[in-house]
Formats: sequence, structure tokens, C-alpha cells
Amino acid sequence: MNLTVKVFIGLISGTFLGLTLNLSGFGEEGSFVTTYFSDGIFALGGNLFVNGLKMLVVPLVFFSIVCGVVGIGDIKLLGRIGGKSFILYMATTAIAITTALTVATIFSVGSGVNAPTTDQMFSSKEAPSIVSVLTSIIPSNPVAAMANGNMLAIIFYSIVVGICILSIQEKVPTVRKFVDEMNEIMMKMVEIVMHFAPYAVFCLVASIFAKLGITLFIELLLYVSVLGGVLIFHGFFTLPFTLKLLSGLNPLTFLSKIREAQMFAFSTASSSATIPATLHATENKMGVNTSVASFTVPFGATINMDGTAMMQGVATVFIANVYGIDLGFSDYLLVVLMSVLASVGTAGVPGVGLVMLTMVFSQVNLPTEGIALIIGVDRLMDMIRTAVNITGDAAVTCVVAKSENKLDIDQYNNPHAGALEDNEQHASSPTA
Ligand code: ASP
Repeated sequence: MNLTVKVFIGLISGTFLGLTLNLSGFGEEGSFVTTYFSDGIFALGGNLFVNGLKMLVVPLVFFSIVCGVVGIGDIKLLGRIGGKSFILYMATTAIAITTALTVATIFSVGSGVNAPTTDQMFSSKEAPSIVSVLTSIIPSNPVAAMANGNMLAIIFYSIVVGICILSIQEKVPTVRKFVDEMNEIMMKMVEIVMHFAPYAVFCLVASIFAKLGITLFIELLLYVSVLGGVLIFHGFFTLPFTLKLLSGLNPLTFLSKIREAQMFAFSTASSSATIPATLHATENKMGVNTSVASFTVPFGATINMDGTAMMQGVATVFIANVYGIDLGFSDYLLVVLMSVLASVGTAGVPGVGLVMLTMVFSQVNLPTEGIALIIGVDRLMDMIRTAVNITGDAAVTCVVAKSENKLDIDQYNNPHAGALEDNEQHASSPTA
């Protein structure tokens, strides 16, 4: 049985157990089951795994980017890859938010729902300004940037180190070899941590579903179903279709190879923690060259949030309807623009999309207190949108790699490539 199937079994059985505990009333706050299972053993199993993934992210991103830049061997090509991926990331996010706004408006999401009472008000942390996000790209202290997981700064710093090694490579053959070998070690660590995924995914989803308030989902049925619907449409249709259109690659193969990473994203609700799995999927399963994936995957996990933008679109229409505020065409345009910008500033960790929503709301004068209404269902929505976010990262990575001739098509079409359980017989490693 390969890992994807095992993770899927973990996901389904965890969901089933969590929902059963919830519906049977065993999952209530303070109960034995909550204390010892949901907040106890399940939380422990899940959090150990998430920490294991996070432990990999910073060194993995650093070494794989340095390796990728040195491997590209051409700084102009690096600029092209950066430019193409940035444009595609922004374009797919704009398509995502436009779809969400359109569908939410058609269904008039939020009409008939009462505004929150004063004791339910949502008070959010302040969203970082775009200027501060852009300024922090150049780290004044690279060690601090790594310690804080400031991804854009880490990407920038790693590229600079890579370029420097490249420009004096005859003088530093040992360092060059060292980063290559460190990258191999990091990829091995990814494989080791991924072997725990089926059990960890089981623990994560069981713990979350045991505590979810089901009644809230019924009250917000229209919001949840419209948002869930547009997210699934984007992840399973728009993105694979865009991939087919721009690169000619088979979208069904793409979907089958990204499934495992999607499940990681779903259970961790963090694009950043999913970077190791997305890198594994794009490099080892889809045959994208390290020189492209090492850069576009962490870049996408940081700036590309199609699913988050969709949530922001549906939430905007929802709150506008709850408060009876009419949004004009120019407001909608502003929401599209702000959501695309917010997606750049949203860190790939759970729940940040909601914080950034306040930034979108303040631009179109919507009351941020209204966010209190959707906060209870946001965790599940976060899980789904994170899976969509990383699907976008992988799709753009494939398009860019294909356009630069950096995708091994045989590996892409080989259904066994990169499958962890049968590595020895079938898998091929990423090509140089
Ligand atoms: N959890 C999302 C991610 O990591 C961000 C968000 O929408 O809150 O991609």
C-alpha cells in the first residue's frame, strides 16, 4: 500500500472518529474524551508531526534554493522563473477571487443572517501593511529571519547566497558540494517525517472534528457550501484546466500526484508546513527540476493563496449582506486588488487569512466585527483553502518548469515516480 492511500485512510478514519465523538456528545469541553483524547493523545500525535514538518521547512528551503540557484547556472534564467511564477501566482489568485465574488453575489450569501451582538464582536490582530511586508524581504538579520520563519526574507537570502556561490564556484567547490549534500540530507529527512503522516493525519483531523461545533455549520450552511463549492471548483477544475491550457500536461495525472500534499495541507492548515510535501510531490513525483521547484514552491507557499482569496471574496459578500451594505463595481475591484495583495502578505500558517481579511474590509468600509460570525467555521474552511493554496503552487511550478524545459515528462507520466513505499523498484530521483 503506498503512502497516499495510507494517508487517505488516516484522514477518513480520523474524520469519522472525530465526528462520531462530536455528535455523540463525548467531545464536549472538559469531558474525559476531550481532555485525554482530543486535547491529549490526538493533539500530541498531530502536533509532534506538525513540529516535525516545521523543523524541516527553514533548512530545507535554504539548502534547496541555494542548490537550485547553483544548479540553474544562469542568473537570467532565475529572473525569468521568478517573473513567470510571480505573474502566474497573481493571475490565478485574481481568477480565484473573481470567481468567489461572482458566485457569492449570485447566491446572495449572508442575506437573512443577523449581525453579531456586542459580546460576540471580533477583535483582530492588526494586519501587517504591504510596505512592511515588502521591506522585510531584505532581512536586516538573516539569522533572525530564519528563527522567525520569515519566508520571503529566507528566500531572498538563499538566492543571494546561491548567486554568490555560482559566481565564484571554482574557488568554493567544497561549499558547493556541501550544499548539495545537505540538500540530499534534508530530502531524506522529508521522507522520514512523511512516513508518520498516516497516523498524524488521523490524530490531527480526529482532534479537530471532535471539537467542531456542528450546529454552527447548519446556521451558516449557505456560506459554508458556497465557499466549499468554489474552493473545490478552483482546486479540481480551474487550476488543473489552467495547467492543461498553459503546459499541455495531463491534469488528471497532476491531481493524482498532488493528492498526498493536499491531504497534508488539509490536516495541518498550513502551506508553510506543507512545503516539504509539495516539494516532494513536484520534484520526485512530477519530475520538476530542483532548480525550479526549490524556488517556486516556497515562494508560492508564501505569496500565492488562491483559496484564502476565495474565502475573502465570499466573506466580503457575506458581511456586506449581513449589514445591508451595497457594494458597487469599484468596491468589488478594490476587493479583488486587496485580496491579491493580502495573499502576498498572508503567512502560510493556520488562520492568518482571517486576520488579513480585516485589511480587505477596511478598504471597502465593511465592519470587521462581523468576522465574529464566520470564525467558528473558519478552521474547516482554512483546511480546505490551504489544500487549494498548495495546489496552485504546484500547478504554477509545473507550468513554469514545462515552459523552461525543466520538467521530466517521463517522470511526470510515470504513476509510480516518487511513491515512497515502493521507492526501490520504481521511483526516480529528480533530474539534474
Ligand atoms: N492557512 C492558510 C495557508 O497556510 C492561510 C490562511 O488562509 O489562513 O495557506
